[in-house]
Amino acid sequence: MTGNTAYPHVLEGASMKYPALAFTVVVLASLFPRMGLASPPTGKPGVKKESFGTLPDGTSVDLYTITNAQGMEIRATNYGGIVVSLRVPDKKGNLDDIALGFDDLKGYLANTPYFGAIIGRYGNRIAKGKFTLDGKEYTLARNNGPNSIHGGLKGFNKVVWQGEPFQGPAVAGIILTYTSKDGEEGYPGNLKTKVTYTLTGKNEWIIDYEAVTDKATPVNLTEHTYFNLAGEGKGDVLGHILQLNASRFTPVDQNLIPTGDLRPVKNTPLDFTQPTAIGARIDADYEQLRLGRGYDHNFVVDRKDSDPVLAARVGEPTSGRVLEVYTTEPGVQLYTGNFLDGTITGKGGHVYKQRFGFCLESQHFPDSPNHPDFPTTILRPGQTYHSRTIYKMSAE
Ligand code: BGC
Repeated sequence: MTGNTAYPHVLEGASMKYPALAFTVVVLASLFPRMGLASPPTGKPGVKKESFGTLPDGTSVDLYTITNAQGMEIRATNYGGIVVSLRVPDKKGNLDDIALGFDDLKGYLANTPYFGAIIGRYGNRIAKGKFTLDGKEYTLARNNGPNSIHGGLKGFNKVVWQGEPFQGPAVAGIILTYTSKDGEEGYPGNLKTKVTYTLTGKNEWIIDYEAVTDKATPVNLTEHTYFNLAGEGKGDVLGHILQLNASRFTPVDQNLIPTGDLRPVKNTPLDFTQPTAIGARIDADYEQLRLGRGYDHNFVVDRKDSDPVLAARVGEPTSGRVLEVYTTEPGVQLYTGNFLDGTITGKGGHVYKQRFGFCLESQHFPDSPNHPDFPTTILRPGQTYHSRTIYKMSAE
Protein backbone atom coordinates (compact mmCIF):
# COMPACT_ATOMS: atom_id res chain seq x y z
CA MET A 1 0.00 0.00 0.00
CA THR A 2 1.23 3.49 -0.66
CA GLY A 3 -0.39 6.52 0.88
CA ASN A 4 -1.19 9.75 -0.91
CA THR A 5 0.70 11.82 1.61
CA ALA A 6 1.37 14.68 -0.76
CA TYR A 7 -2.00 15.87 -2.00
CA PRO A 8 -1.79 19.47 -0.72
CA HIS A 9 1.38 19.86 -2.79
CA VAL A 10 -0.25 18.51 -5.94
CA LEU A 11 -2.14 21.75 -6.46
CA GLU A 12 0.85 23.95 -5.58
CA GLY A 13 2.98 22.15 -8.12
CA ALA A 14 0.24 22.14 -10.74
CA SER A 15 -0.51 25.87 -10.41
CA MET A 16 3.13 26.68 -11.19
CA LYS A 17 3.17 24.46 -14.26
CA TYR A 18 -0.35 25.21 -15.46
CA PRO A 19 -1.45 28.82 -14.73
CA ALA A 20 -4.82 28.15 -16.47
CA LEU A 21 -5.55 25.40 -13.94
CA ALA A 22 -4.76 27.78 -11.10
CA PHE A 23 -7.16 30.35 -12.61
CA THR A 24 -9.92 27.73 -12.89
CA VAL A 25 -9.43 26.82 -9.24
CA VAL A 26 -9.78 30.49 -8.22
CA VAL A 27 -12.98 30.88 -10.29
CA LEU A 28 -14.45 27.66 -8.89
CA ALA A 29 -13.58 28.76 -5.39
CA SER A 30 -15.51 32.03 -5.86
CA LEU A 31 -18.57 29.99 -6.93
CA PHE A 32 -18.56 27.85 -3.78
CA PRO A 33 -21.07 29.86 -1.72
CA ARG A 34 -23.53 30.15 -4.66
CA MET A 35 -23.32 26.41 -5.30
CA GLY A 36 -24.26 25.83 -1.67
CA LEU A 37 -20.96 24.12 -1.00
CA ALA A 38 -18.85 24.65 2.07
CA SER A 39 -16.49 27.60 1.64
CA PRO A 40 -12.96 26.68 0.73
CA PRO A 41 -10.99 26.62 3.94
CA THR A 42 -9.10 29.72 4.98
CA GLY A 43 -7.32 30.71 8.13
CA LYS A 44 -4.33 29.64 10.11
CA PRO A 45 -3.57 26.82 12.48
CA GLY A 46 -4.57 27.62 16.03
CA VAL A 47 -5.54 26.33 19.48
CA LYS A 48 -8.32 27.76 21.64
CA LYS A 49 -8.75 26.80 25.29
CA GLU A 50 -12.04 26.96 27.18
CA SER A 51 -13.69 25.32 30.16
CA PHE A 52 -15.22 21.86 29.75
CA GLY A 53 -16.75 21.88 33.23
CA THR A 54 -15.72 20.42 36.57
CA LEU A 55 -15.35 16.94 38.04
CA PRO A 56 -17.48 15.98 41.07
CA ASP A 57 -14.45 16.80 43.30
CA GLY A 58 -14.32 20.35 41.92
CA THR A 59 -11.31 19.89 39.59
CA SER A 60 -11.77 22.02 36.51
CA VAL A 61 -11.36 20.45 33.11
CA ASP A 62 -10.36 22.19 29.88
CA LEU A 63 -11.33 21.78 26.26
CA TYR A 64 -8.86 22.60 23.48
CA THR A 65 -10.01 23.30 19.94
CA ILE A 66 -7.17 22.71 17.49
CA THR A 67 -7.63 23.88 13.90
CA ASN A 68 -5.64 23.93 10.70
CA ALA A 69 -5.84 25.96 7.50
CA GLN A 70 -7.76 23.17 5.70
CA GLY A 71 -10.80 23.43 7.98
CA MET A 72 -10.06 20.29 9.99
CA GLU A 73 -10.69 20.59 13.71
CA ILE A 74 -9.80 18.40 16.69
CA ARG A 75 -11.46 19.12 20.03
CA ALA A 76 -9.75 17.41 22.96
CA THR A 77 -10.11 17.63 26.71
CA ASN A 78 -7.39 17.14 29.30
CA TYR A 79 -9.77 14.73 31.09
CA GLY A 80 -8.42 11.39 29.83
CA GLY A 81 -6.92 13.18 26.83
CA ILE A 82 -10.27 12.44 25.22
CA VAL A 83 -10.77 13.59 21.65
CA VAL A 84 -14.39 14.68 21.88
CA SER A 85 -14.80 15.57 18.22
CA LEU A 86 -12.96 15.35 14.91
CA ARG A 87 -14.40 17.54 12.18
CA VAL A 88 -13.09 16.56 8.78
CA PRO A 89 -14.04 17.59 5.21
CA ASP A 90 -15.71 15.08 2.88
CA LYS A 91 -15.12 15.01 -0.88
CA LYS A 92 -17.35 18.10 -1.35
CA GLY A 93 -15.65 20.02 1.45
CA ASN A 94 -18.49 19.51 3.94
CA LEU A 95 -17.37 19.03 7.52
CA ASP A 96 -18.73 16.22 9.68
CA ASP A 97 -17.75 15.00 13.12
CA ILE A 98 -16.38 11.49 12.56
CA ALA A 99 -15.74 10.55 16.22
CA LEU A 100 -18.32 8.92 18.51
CA GLY A 101 -18.67 10.60 21.89
CA PHE A 102 -20.73 12.91 24.06
CA ASP A 103 -21.73 16.58 23.97
CA ASP A 104 -20.46 17.32 27.46
CA LEU A 105 -18.18 16.19 30.27
CA LYS A 106 -21.08 14.54 32.11
CA GLY A 107 -21.37 11.99 29.30
CA TYR A 108 -17.72 11.03 29.62
CA LEU A 109 -17.98 10.71 33.42
CA ALA A 110 -20.77 8.17 33.10
CA ASN A 111 -20.15 4.74 31.66
CA THR A 112 -18.24 5.13 28.39
CA PRO A 113 -16.49 2.44 26.36
CA TYR A 114 -13.33 4.58 26.24
CA PHE A 115 -14.64 6.90 23.48
CA GLY A 116 -11.70 8.98 22.19
CA ALA A 117 -9.51 8.40 25.24
CA ILE A 118 -5.81 7.86 25.86
CA ILE A 119 -5.37 4.33 27.14
CA GLY A 120 -2.71 3.48 29.72
CA ARG A 121 -0.71 2.27 31.46
CA TYR A 122 -1.48 -0.86 29.43
CA GLY A 123 -3.73 -0.93 26.36
CA ASN A 124 -5.90 -4.04 25.98
CA ARG A 125 -5.97 -7.09 28.23
CA ILE A 126 -3.64 -8.63 30.78
CA ALA A 127 -4.77 -12.17 31.57
CA LYS A 128 -6.17 -12.73 35.06
CA GLY A 129 -4.86 -9.25 35.99
CA LYS A 130 -1.46 -10.73 36.81
CA PHE A 131 2.10 -10.66 35.52
CA THR A 132 5.54 -11.47 36.86
CA LEU A 133 8.40 -9.06 36.31
CA ASP A 134 11.99 -9.64 37.50
CA GLY A 135 10.73 -12.47 39.71
CA LYS A 136 7.98 -10.46 41.44
CA GLU A 137 4.28 -11.08 40.84
CA TYR A 138 2.03 -8.05 40.38
CA THR A 139 -1.76 -8.06 40.73
CA LEU A 140 -4.00 -5.63 38.87
CA ALA A 141 -7.70 -4.90 39.19
CA ARG A 142 -9.85 -7.27 37.13
CA ASN A 143 -12.21 -4.98 35.27
CA ASN A 144 -13.01 -7.23 32.29
CA GLY A 145 -14.24 -10.64 33.38
CA PRO A 146 -11.12 -12.40 34.65
CA ASN A 147 -8.81 -9.86 32.97
CA SER A 148 -7.48 -6.39 33.52
CA ILE A 149 -8.19 -4.10 30.57
CA HIS A 150 -7.01 -0.65 29.47
CA GLY A 151 -5.06 0.22 32.61
CA GLY A 152 -7.56 -0.87 35.26
CA LEU A 153 -10.38 0.78 37.20
CA LYS A 154 -8.99 4.28 36.86
CA GLY A 155 -6.83 4.16 33.76
CA PHE A 156 -5.25 7.10 31.95
CA ASN A 157 -8.66 7.67 30.33
CA LYS A 158 -10.06 8.87 33.67
CA VAL A 159 -7.31 11.13 34.98
CA VAL A 160 -6.84 14.85 34.48
CA TRP A 161 -3.75 15.59 32.43
CA GLN A 162 -1.77 18.82 32.47
CA GLY A 163 -2.46 20.55 29.14
CA GLU A 164 -0.19 22.94 27.23
CA PRO A 165 -1.14 24.32 23.82
CA PHE A 166 1.46 25.02 21.14
CA GLN A 167 1.42 26.54 17.70
CA GLY A 168 3.84 26.81 14.77
CA PRO A 169 3.52 28.30 11.28
CA ALA A 170 1.94 25.12 9.85
CA VAL A 171 0.90 23.05 12.88
CA ALA A 172 -0.95 23.41 16.17
CA GLY A 173 -1.60 21.08 19.06
CA ILE A 174 -1.45 20.28 22.73
CA ILE A 175 1.02 18.56 25.02
CA LEU A 176 -0.58 16.46 27.74
CA THR A 177 1.47 15.27 30.71
CA TYR A 178 0.58 12.96 33.56
CA THR A 179 2.63 11.18 36.22
CA SER A 180 1.21 7.84 37.24
CA LYS A 181 2.33 7.02 40.78
CA ASP A 182 4.25 3.92 41.85
CA GLY A 183 1.61 1.30 42.67
CA GLU A 184 -1.22 3.08 40.84
CA GLU A 185 -3.68 0.44 39.60
CA GLY A 186 -1.12 -2.15 40.79
CA TYR A 187 1.67 -1.14 38.35
CA PRO A 188 5.23 -0.59 39.59
CA GLY A 189 7.17 2.66 39.23
CA ASN A 190 6.42 6.35 38.91
CA LEU A 191 5.71 6.71 35.21
CA LYS A 192 6.07 10.20 33.73
CA THR A 193 3.97 10.28 30.57
CA LYS A 194 3.74 12.83 27.80
CA VAL A 195 1.29 12.62 24.91
CA THR A 196 1.40 15.22 22.14
CA TYR A 197 -1.46 15.79 19.71
CA THR A 198 -0.37 17.68 16.59
CA LEU A 199 -2.67 18.73 13.76
CA THR A 200 -0.76 19.42 10.56
CA GLY A 201 -1.69 21.30 7.39
CA LYS A 202 -2.00 17.92 5.64
CA ASN A 203 -4.94 16.87 7.84
CA GLU A 204 -2.77 14.58 9.90
CA TRP A 205 -3.48 14.05 13.58
CA ILE A 206 -0.10 12.97 14.92
CA ILE A 207 0.11 11.36 18.35
CA ASP A 208 3.51 11.14 20.01
CA TYR A 209 3.76 9.13 23.20
CA GLU A 210 6.72 9.35 25.57
CA ALA A 211 7.32 7.91 29.03
CA VAL A 212 10.07 7.35 31.58
CA THR A 213 9.94 5.31 34.76
CA ASP A 214 11.92 4.82 37.97
CA LYS A 215 11.10 1.06 38.22
CA ALA A 216 10.65 -1.54 35.50
CA THR A 217 7.00 -1.58 34.37
CA PRO A 218 4.87 -2.67 31.41
CA VAL A 219 3.78 0.27 29.22
CA ASN A 220 1.49 0.09 26.20
CA LEU A 221 -0.17 3.40 25.35
CA THR A 222 -2.82 3.86 22.70
CA GLU A 223 -5.79 5.98 21.64
CA HIS A 224 -9.36 4.75 21.56
CA THR A 225 -11.30 6.91 19.08
CA TYR A 226 -14.33 5.21 17.55
CA PHE A 227 -14.50 6.42 13.95
CA ASN A 228 -17.43 6.56 11.57
CA LEU A 229 -16.21 8.25 8.41
CA ALA A 230 -19.76 9.04 7.27
CA GLY A 231 -20.22 11.03 10.49
CA GLU A 232 -20.92 9.84 14.04
CA GLY A 233 -24.41 8.48 14.55
CA LYS A 234 -24.93 7.92 10.81
CA GLY A 235 -25.37 4.17 10.89
CA ASP A 236 -22.96 1.27 11.05
CA VAL A 237 -19.48 1.01 9.58
CA LEU A 238 -20.03 -2.25 7.71
CA GLY A 239 -19.80 -0.54 4.28
CA HIS A 240 -16.45 1.07 5.07
CA ILE A 241 -13.66 -0.40 2.93
CA LEU A 242 -10.68 -1.51 4.97
CA GLN A 243 -7.18 -2.50 3.99
CA LEU A 244 -4.68 -3.70 6.61
CA ASN A 245 -0.98 -4.05 6.06
CA ALA A 246 -0.95 -7.20 8.17
CA SER A 247 -0.40 -10.76 7.03
CA ARG A 248 -0.77 -12.21 10.55
CA PHE A 249 -2.89 -11.68 13.64
CA THR A 250 -2.82 -12.89 17.23
CA PRO A 251 -5.73 -15.34 17.68
CA VAL A 252 -7.49 -15.23 21.06
CA ASP A 253 -9.13 -17.62 23.51
CA GLN A 254 -12.66 -17.28 24.92
CA ASN A 255 -11.47 -14.45 27.24
CA LEU A 256 -10.00 -12.56 24.26
CA ILE A 257 -6.47 -13.30 25.50
CA PRO A 258 -3.90 -14.14 22.78
CA THR A 259 -3.11 -17.83 22.57
CA GLY A 260 0.49 -16.90 21.72
CA ASP A 261 0.29 -17.89 18.03
CA LEU A 262 0.86 -15.52 15.14
CA ARG A 263 -1.65 -16.89 12.64
CA PRO A 264 -1.54 -16.03 8.91
CA VAL A 265 -4.69 -14.15 7.81
CA LYS A 266 -4.62 -15.92 4.44
CA ASN A 267 -7.82 -17.89 3.82
CA THR A 268 -9.51 -16.41 6.89
CA PRO A 269 -12.13 -13.63 7.20
CA LEU A 270 -9.38 -11.59 8.86
CA ASP A 271 -7.59 -11.16 5.56
CA PHE A 272 -7.76 -7.43 4.78
CA THR A 273 -4.56 -7.35 2.74
CA GLN A 274 -6.81 -6.32 -0.18
CA PRO A 275 -9.43 -3.55 0.28
CA THR A 276 -12.58 -5.27 1.62
CA ALA A 277 -15.81 -4.04 3.23
CA ILE A 278 -15.67 -4.39 7.01
CA GLY A 279 -19.07 -6.10 6.89
CA ALA A 280 -18.32 -8.50 4.02
CA ARG A 281 -17.37 -11.42 6.30
CA ILE A 282 -17.92 -10.08 9.83
CA ASP A 283 -20.58 -12.71 10.62
CA ALA A 284 -18.76 -15.58 8.92
CA ASP A 285 -18.76 -18.95 10.63
CA TYR A 286 -15.23 -18.61 11.99
CA GLU A 287 -14.33 -19.27 15.61
CA GLN A 288 -12.28 -16.08 16.04
CA LEU A 289 -15.19 -13.91 14.87
CA ARG A 290 -17.60 -15.71 17.19
CA LEU A 291 -15.25 -15.11 20.13
CA GLY A 292 -14.92 -11.40 19.32
CA ARG A 293 -18.58 -10.99 18.23
CA GLY A 294 -16.96 -9.54 15.10
CA TYR A 295 -13.49 -8.07 14.71
CA ASP A 296 -11.73 -7.51 18.01
CA HIS A 297 -8.24 -8.62 17.10
CA ASN A 298 -4.66 -7.50 17.18
CA PHE A 299 -3.09 -7.54 13.73
CA VAL A 300 0.67 -7.86 13.35
CA VAL A 301 1.79 -4.95 11.20
CA ASP A 302 4.07 -5.94 8.31
CA ARG A 303 7.14 -3.75 8.57
CA LYS A 304 10.84 -3.66 7.66
CA ASP A 305 12.07 -1.25 10.32
CA SER A 306 10.76 0.82 13.19
CA ASP A 307 9.75 3.86 11.09
CA PRO A 308 6.05 4.74 10.93
CA VAL A 309 4.47 2.46 8.34
CA LEU A 310 1.02 2.55 6.77
CA ALA A 311 -0.81 -0.02 8.89
CA ALA A 312 -4.40 0.61 7.80
CA ARG A 313 -6.45 2.48 5.23
CA VAL A 314 -10.20 2.90 5.53
CA GLY A 315 -12.49 4.54 2.99
CA GLU A 316 -16.18 5.42 3.23
CA PRO A 317 -17.67 5.41 -0.28
CA THR A 318 -20.49 7.96 0.17
CA SER A 319 -18.56 10.78 1.83
CA GLY A 320 -15.32 9.82 0.10
CA ARG A 321 -13.46 10.24 3.40
CA VAL A 322 -10.31 8.19 3.82
CA LEU A 323 -8.43 7.49 7.02
CA GLU A 324 -4.87 6.22 6.92
CA VAL A 325 -3.12 5.00 10.04
CA TYR A 326 0.66 5.09 10.17
CA THR A 327 2.43 3.78 13.24
CA THR A 328 5.72 2.76 14.78
CA GLU A 329 3.89 0.06 16.80
CA PRO A 330 4.11 -3.68 16.01
CA GLY A 331 0.34 -4.18 16.26
CA VAL A 332 -3.01 -2.59 15.62
CA GLN A 333 -6.25 -3.65 17.30
CA LEU A 334 -9.21 -3.61 14.94
CA TYR A 335 -12.33 -3.32 17.08
CA THR A 336 -15.63 -2.93 15.25
CA GLY A 337 -17.77 -1.67 18.14
CA ASN A 338 -19.22 -5.13 18.70
CA PHE A 339 -20.11 -4.39 22.32
CA LEU A 340 -22.04 -1.21 21.48
CA ASP A 341 -25.65 -2.24 21.99
CA GLY A 342 -27.80 0.85 21.68
CA THR A 343 -27.74 1.64 25.40
CA ILE A 344 -25.48 4.66 24.90
CA THR A 345 -26.95 7.91 23.63
CA GLY A 346 -24.17 10.13 22.37
CA LYS A 347 -23.83 13.48 20.67
CA GLY A 348 -26.97 15.17 19.44
CA GLY A 349 -29.11 12.33 20.86
CA HIS A 350 -27.57 9.77 18.51
CA VAL A 351 -28.01 6.20 19.73
CA TYR A 352 -24.85 4.16 19.17
CA LYS A 353 -25.77 0.66 18.12
CA GLN A 354 -23.60 -2.37 17.45
CA ARG A 355 -20.85 -1.65 14.90
CA PHE A 356 -21.64 2.08 14.64
CA GLY A 357 -17.91 2.81 14.97
CA PHE A 358 -14.54 1.17 14.49
CA CYS A 359 -11.26 1.60 16.36
CA LEU A 360 -7.75 1.11 15.04
CA GLU A 361 -5.64 1.12 18.18
CA SER A 362 -1.92 1.07 17.50
CA GLN A 363 -0.23 -0.96 20.20
CA HIS A 364 2.05 -3.74 21.35
CA PHE A 365 0.25 -7.06 21.51
CA PRO A 366 -2.34 -7.72 24.23
CA ASP A 367 -1.09 -9.59 27.31
CA SER A 368 2.56 -9.18 26.28
CA PRO A 369 3.81 -9.24 29.90
CA ASN A 370 2.69 -12.90 29.98
CA HIS A 371 4.11 -13.75 26.53
CA PRO A 372 7.92 -13.60 26.53
CA ASP A 373 7.91 -14.33 22.76
CA PHE A 374 5.97 -11.14 21.94
CA PRO A 375 7.83 -7.82 21.44
CA THR A 376 8.54 -6.58 24.96
CA THR A 377 6.42 -3.92 26.65
CA ILE A 378 8.75 -3.56 29.63
CA LEU A 379 10.18 -0.08 30.15
CA ARG A 380 13.17 0.17 32.48
CA PRO A 381 14.73 3.10 34.35
CA GLY A 382 17.08 4.99 32.02
CA GLN A 383 15.05 4.09 28.90
CA THR A 384 12.53 6.35 27.17
CA TYR A 385 9.33 4.97 25.70
CA HIS A 386 8.62 6.46 22.26
CA SER A 387 5.70 5.68 20.02
CA ARG A 388 4.15 7.60 17.14
CA THR A 389 0.83 7.12 15.36
CA ILE A 390 -0.54 9.29 12.59
CA TYR A 391 -4.22 9.37 11.68
CA LYS A 392 -4.25 11.01 8.27
CA MET A 393 -7.51 12.19 6.75
CA SER A 394 -8.30 12.87 3.11
CA ALA A 395 -11.23 12.56 0.72
CA GLU A 396 -11.51 11.14 -2.79
C1 BGC B 1 -11.09 -4.03 23.05
C2 BGC B 1 -12.52 -4.49 23.12
C3 BGC B 1 -13.24 -3.68 24.15
C4 BGC B 1 -13.12 -2.21 23.78
C5 BGC B 1 -13.76 -1.31 24.81
C6 BGC B 1 -11.07 -2.58 22.70
O1 BGC B 1 -9.75 -2.13 22.70
O2 BGC B 1 -10.35 -4.77 22.14
O3 BGC B 1 -12.60 -5.86 23.45
O4 BGC B 1 -14.59 -4.05 24.23
O5 BGC B 1 -11.77 -1.87 23.68
O6 BGC B 1 -13.29 -1.62 26.05
